Amino acid sequence: MVARKHAKRANSDVLLRVRGTVQGVGFRPFVHRVATRLGLRGWVRNDSEGVLIRAVGPASTVTALERALRTEAPRAARVERLEVSPTTAPDDGAASPFAIVPSGCGDGPASAAITPDLAICPECRRELLDPADRRHLYPFINCTQCGPRYSIVERLPYDRPNTTMRAFRMCPKCGAEYADQGSRRFHAQPNACPVCGPRVVLRGADGSSLSGAEAIAGAARALSAGRILAAKGIGGYHLMVDAQNEAAVSELRRRKHRDEKPFAVMFPDLDALRLAAEVLEGEASLLGSAAAPIVLLRRRAQAQLAPSVAPMNPWVGAFLPYAPLHVLLLGAFGRPVVATSANLAEEPLCTRVSEAHERLAEIADAFLDHDRPIAHPVDDSVVRPSKGGPIVLRRARGYAPSPLRLPGTVAGSWLCVGAQMKNTVGVASGDQLVLSPHIGDLDGPSTRAVFKRTAAMLGKIHGSKFTQVVCDRHPDYASTLYARASGLPCVAVQHHLAHVLACLLEHGRRADGVLGVAWDGTGYGEDGTIWGGEFILLQKGAARRFGRLRPFRLPGGEAAIRDARRTALALAHAAGDPALWTLGRRLQFSEAEAGLLGTMLTRRINSPVTTSAGRLFDAAGALLGAGARNTFEGQVPLALEAAAAGHAGAAASLPFPLRSAAQGSGADVELDWAPLVAALDAGRLAGRDTRELAASFHRAMAEGILAVANAAGVGTVALGGGCFQNALLTDLATSLLEEAGFEVLVPRELPPNDGAIAAGQALGALWNLTTVSIT
Ligand SMILES: [Zn+2]
Ligand SMILES: [Zn+2]
Repeated sequence: MVARKHAKRANSDVLLRVRGTVQGVGFRPFVHRVATRLGLRGWVRNDSEGVLIRAVGPASTVTALERALRTEAPRAARVERLEVSPTTAPDDGAASPFAIVPSGCGDGPASAAITPDLAICPECRRELLDPADRRHLYPFINCTQCGPRYSIVERLPYDRPNTTMRAFRMCPKCGAEYADQGSRRFHAQPNACPVCGPRVVLRGADGSSLSGAEAIAGAARALSAGRILAAKGIGGYHLMVDAQNEAAVSELRRRKHRDEKPFAVMFPDLDALRLAAEVLEGEASLLGSAAAPIVLLRRRAQAQLAPSVAPMNPWVGAFLPYAPLHVLLLGAFGRPVVATSANLAEEPLCTRVSEAHERLAEIADAFLDHDRPIAHPVDDSVVRPSKGGPIVLRRARGYAPSPLRLPGTVAGSWLCVGAQMKNTVGVASGDQLVLSPHIGDLDGPSTRAVFKRTAAMLGKIHGSKFTQVVCDRHPDYASTLYARASGLPCVAVQHHLAHVLACLLEHGRRADGVLGVAWDGTGYGEDGTIWGGEFILLQKGAARRFGRLRPFRLPGGEAAIRDARRTALALAHAAGDPALWTLGRRLQFSEAEAGLLGTMLTRRINSPVTTSAGRLFDAAGALLGAGARNTFEGQVPLALEAAAAGHAGAAASLPFPLRSAAQGSGADVELDWAPLVAALDAGRLAGRDTRELAASFHRAMAEGILAVANAAGVGTVALGGGCFQNALLTDLATSLLEEAGFEVLVPRELPPNDGAIAAGQALGALWNLTTVSIT
């Protein structure tokens, strides 16, 4: 009797509520396997809040399940909260053998069901390379913990008939796995094998073709011979060449019309990567994560990489094979390859075979194709480590479209169209925001077509029509024009405010008691000038421009964005450098050019006013000889950061005074760059080490942020805008502010750049916080 009583007391019947990233990542099959292993009874299901489990069995065994949920979860899952409560609910299958049951009614938005594309998991990798496995060397192996997701979804719900896998009929063995709750491939929508699934084909320019293992061996031979290979992957094609073959890499640059922008390099494995770059522990886990992004790493001096991979750049954008096809190709080739998005400049990724063969005909020597269609182009994500944590530069494969939670509920469904450059679009519905992967710059018609397709696709998620559009205040952005032409109610959110709001969104913070530092290249200001060095004070849900950089002129406007020397000339001249022509000569302008620029400045011809911090970085870079032109966005500031890195300790203080702004000027305070620019110029003339001057400049910029924060009288500082892609600036500003007792919010989940504008727009519309007052 006593024993029975004891047994009864020791038996648990509990509900386990799991929140976080737990849907679409193989979580239910994982729970099923663990629960079955432990001999528990009950069930697991998805619902609108995540995953719900009912577990019945001895208390110690239930505790073991809880522990496993935390420690053994699939690597793409993120368990944020686990709540356990005893239940006395009626027996709804709790007494039966453990099972995966259909989702409960009242399911949330279907968005929860679209997850990002996931890199090959360790178990699939093992099977891929196991000669005894039926998927040995099969380039499309996947399971519920890995494989394509967003890139193959055409409609929702996320079921095989609604994906591009619908053309492939599962063979009996694959069908059995798909139906088996105990299998890692239970309801793995892209499940396939060599009998029933997609195939790979190598096609040469001469019309030759090879398939299967021979295709991969042939592709590796083409790389060895210095050929340029177009390889279809998860979200589009890559152009690949031998990263150690200078002739091949420079030929790729020539054919792709790409001058200096660094190429990413895919390494066969971590060991090969360690030979070329320093890899810290956190960086290794980023590289090996389910997102498997490109990570900017410090290149070793003795790295065996062709100079043309990343000219004059101390970093290398490195990643590891993330599709099984890459594992096989890099395994066969055995050395690192340049793997760059297969597109012409400013165009979207090639995704279709016919399109790739047409558009890449002049670039690629051979095509490694496959017949699993790609529904949406998805670029590789790019992340750069900093002392405080990784900074996402491009949020795409592996990260998007994971939903973000809004701090309130949206009435209807809103389309947030983002900015012009680095465009992403967002859909806000209920309390969720789904942000698309990086789309690109909306200058070209084909990128604009992807923008429209992506907006329509995300709209379908919610099964209802958009009720409102949210855009930037810039009247000429293609995204704004699209919003205005939609015929829907339209709300415009100021660009820099959107940067700050995106940071608040990811940190779950309110618009109160926060100083937003919005530093970027250019954005449309409330006064019609080009903003970019703004300090926005958020109090009780309202925004006011508290501070800014002292305004200056950009001789030639857009031309000054490409030619950093123009801004340098304008600033150094305004800072008191007396002789325009000697200054011009130092910046390698001809006397006539310097004279013309001088006239433009004094007569204010085509020289728009700006407060842009990005342009101030340009000017400093040009003055210190770090670079002259931005052939790609941020080139000169990146070179300046590269020069400064490693010299931050030696950085002497430079003046960057904070002063009151003129009455009615639209800000309380402004940072005056004139003494700073004069000091840089004088330092260069005096022959001081330009690397130390570059470090001092970064320190001065960070100290400037601290000075404004001290004047603003709030305890929290939120950083946003493209300048905070600069890891040195972000680290310096964060540590100075934290040492002074400020709480610092830094973009980590979302990019600091315009890729996050759509997210800020959603929050601005939700809070009815769209303008920055400038009185
Ligand atoms: Zn897998
Ligand atoms: Zn099969």
